[in-house]
Amino acid sequence: MHTVTENTQRFSSSPATVESFTSEFVRQLRYEQGVDLGFASSDDLYQALARTVRRYMIDNWLDTLSTQTAKGAKAVAYLSAEYLMGPQLPNALLATGLAEVARDSLAALGLDLDEIGATEVEPGLGNGGLGRLAACFIDSLATMDIPAVGYGIRYEYGIFRQTFVDGRQAEQPDPWLSKGSPWEFAHPDMAVEVGFHGHTERYTDAAGVERTRWVRGDCVLAVPYNYMVPGYGTKNVNTLRLWSAKATNAFDLQIFNAGDYEAAVRAQTVAENISKVIYPEDSTPQGKELRLKQQYFFVAASLADFINQTLPQGFDLTKIHERVTFQLNDTHPVIAIPELMRILVDERGIDWATAWDVTRKTFNYTCHTLLPEALEVWSVELLGRLLPRHLEIIFQINEEFLAEVRKAYPGDELRARRMSIIQEQPERAVRMAFLASIGSSKINGVAELHSQLLRDKVLNDFSELWPSKFTNVTNGVTPRRFLALSNPGLANLITEAIGEGWVKDLERLRELEPFAEDASFRSEFRAVKAANKERFVELIAQRDGIELPADAMYDVMVKRLHEYKRQMLKLLHVVTLYDRVLRGELRASDITPRVVTFGAKAAPGYKMAKEIIALINAVAKVVNHAPELQGRLQIAFPANYNVTLAEKLIPAADLSEQISLAGKEASGTGNMKFALNGALTIGTLDGANVEIYDLVGDEHFFLFGLTEPQVADVVDAGYKPGAYYEGNRSLKGAIDLIASGAFSNGDRNAFEFVLSDLLGKDRFLVLADYQAYVDAQDKVEVAYADQEAWSRSAILNVARTGFFSSDRSIQDYLDRIWHAKPQPVR
Ligand SMILES: *Cc1c(COP(=O)(O)O)cnc(C)c1O
Repeated sequence: MHTVTENTQRFSSSPATVESFTSEFVRQLRYEQGVDLGFASSDDLYQALARTVRRYMIDNWLDTLSTQTAKGAKAVAYLSAEYLMGPQLPNALLATGLAEVARDSLAALGLDLDEIGATEVEPGLGNGGLGRLAACFIDSLATMDIPAVGYGIRYEYGIFRQTFVDGRQAEQPDPWLSKGSPWEFAHPDMAVEVGFHGHTERYTDAAGVERTRWVRGDCVLAVPYNYMVPGYGTKNVNTLRLWSAKATNAFDLQIFNAGDYEAAVRAQTVAENISKVIYPEDSTPQGKELRLKQQYFFVAASLADFINQTLPQGFDLTKIHERVTFQLNDTHPVIAIPELMRILVDERGIDWATAWDVTRKTFNYTCHTLLPEALEVWSVELLGRLLPRHLEIIFQINEEFLAEVRKAYPGDELRARRMSIIQEQPERAVRMAFLASIGSSKINGVAELHSQLLRDKVLNDFSELWPSKFTNVTNGVTPRRFLALSNPGLANLITEAIGEGWVKDLERLRELEPFAEDASFRSEFRAVKAANKERFVELIAQRDGIELPADAMYDVMVKRLHEYKRQMLKLLHVVTLYDRVLRGELRASDITPRVVTFGAKAAPGYKMAKEIIALINAVAKVVNHAPELQGRLQIAFPANYNVTLAEKLIPAADLSEQISLAGKEASGTGNMKFALNGALTIGTLDGANVEIYDLVGDEHFFLFGLTEPQVADVVDAGYKPGAYYEGNRSLKGAIDLIASGAFSNGDRNAFEFVLSDLLGKDRFLVLADYQAYVDAQDKVEVAYADQEAWSRSAILNVARTGFFSSDRSIQDYLDRIWHAKPQPVR
């Protein structure tokens, strides 16, 4: 069952008792929800419970704010278009230490905490890893007492809900706010105006100085909604401020007075569309106008908010970098760079050179990709129309930058053209990653290999010009959500062994190493894993109507569906096993019982990804009903992979599939969650897998596949996937089986789109890595047969991956980039 509170870790700074909690809960129900306990719906109960818990956080929140304001210390402002938060209630209960009190209070009223908690709809304000990273980071910032604010967008509709119709992905809107959110505080009084369109004008000011002003064509209101971000084991509660778009009164009125009521209402809709829905493309930007509007909208509101509300009145903005560092989470918020220039130069009359110096000291940029198609560009035409002044500023930044390049590399015009912020082909467009690199103090990649490839390849010209700008901060995940909350069984086992200090100091998991040698500990560890499988099996039966065995190896691949992540490789392994059984080459009884679990959303416009989903479901349907494979091999593909599902699935996993083509996955964070929960990884040397492999050691990791330099060699030599197909009997068997119509009721063309690409192009070298992958899976089979050795490896994975706490990532950001200090609330 869904459990919010089995965990016993807590800090009991709160004076709450069962009596006071109960009376607050009943008060909330009666006087805020307006219902009597006997008539309360499940949503009434959830709202009242959330508001009760919230009640215990607010004083600390307000104290944090006043402490930080009084101290005037440097703050971190994290700018991110996405926050994939996951359920809020369990996290708030953990942070406040109220879990047991809440459970007992509710029980006394005849209510069940887990049942009430299960009605929460998670705020899906992100696509995948990037948004989840932002959520982990704000958790760590609060836990580490760093003055920080997360800025983003309050999308009215989160990431779509995925269902399968005849095995194909269908998308439903996610109206996560339809019943309101008890966790947010709206401040329409604090709304900020954000302008768009219009034109620019030159003028001479009173002092005789030539200046520029932007005459906006229209504007919208950005209304802030504040969310508490409670630190764990501290009084500090930080703020996440998400912006919602609203039509301005003035704008409305103008049209209305002109006598066109319909146009006025239409204008309102246009304005409010800005924060209506999150774009569902993960790492392939679509260049849509509304998307650029969203980016500028939240960034302009956030800068204005920080400058006008957080900084003291009359603050000298040439010192803004002493009070804040704006971290750009990928290129989505990069328009903040010209926006700050506009504020400093146009609005504050600061000279360009000083403004540029200050701006570059204020921003830092995190790059999240290596795929060229994922690097955001905005057409000059669109950007100039939507934000005419910003385009001028970008041009001027570029002009000065290119002069610097030409000075550093005289005569190297090719280099200057390569490095220009403006690309000329296929259309004139602004390269946001270049603008970010030029306008920031530090540029970081998100894993060692990724940062190295940024320096050596993607941003090589920039690292040659400014070697010291580049640094690495390997990603992390919060141990609160992804261990303490999601895996209470393991969390308790760890705490019994080494005490509870690990929750805030994850490197202490090292102290578990000796326990890997202790047979009784291993047996308890296996019991926890078995219980987590039971919990997952129950959930999936309820949620998806899928029947699964609890006593199998759980082989799990969950992440966005993307060709570079290579879900196809995993699927080919399954098809290979089936094919070998059909051919009599493999006895089904020799296969270790396995449940291969997929979870993946595809961007709605990403045809190949959607075809692969259909293929996985088609294979699942046949394999799961094949009499010869009963009890041996089963595919589970629950729809709508999200944080809620991740929290139940990851603790149940034995084998973590991290099989992207080397050199394509920037870091991955799913890989870290699995290792920390005692799954062994089968993976390539890609992203943070490299660091996981180095930390856990070769005997406890199933490494396979081409390395990044080998990939480059294979591609340079002219990769021919057809040759791998022709030259490998089992690979040919698997592909032929799909092509035969065995998974499509005899329709031989059903998966033509996928197969012809694999055999013709195979951009991500699935076929080249196939044999190495199958061999590695054979090693998994052998290793799993020795459960004592397997558990030892699993425990060592937990013990050795404390490095991947997002607390460590944040400490790295503090040391290498931000230089902000903790401000604990007393
Ligand atoms: C951690 C997480 C991701 C990122 O997974 P990767 O394997 O790193 O791509 C995506 N979605 C959800 C819901 C997650 O929790």
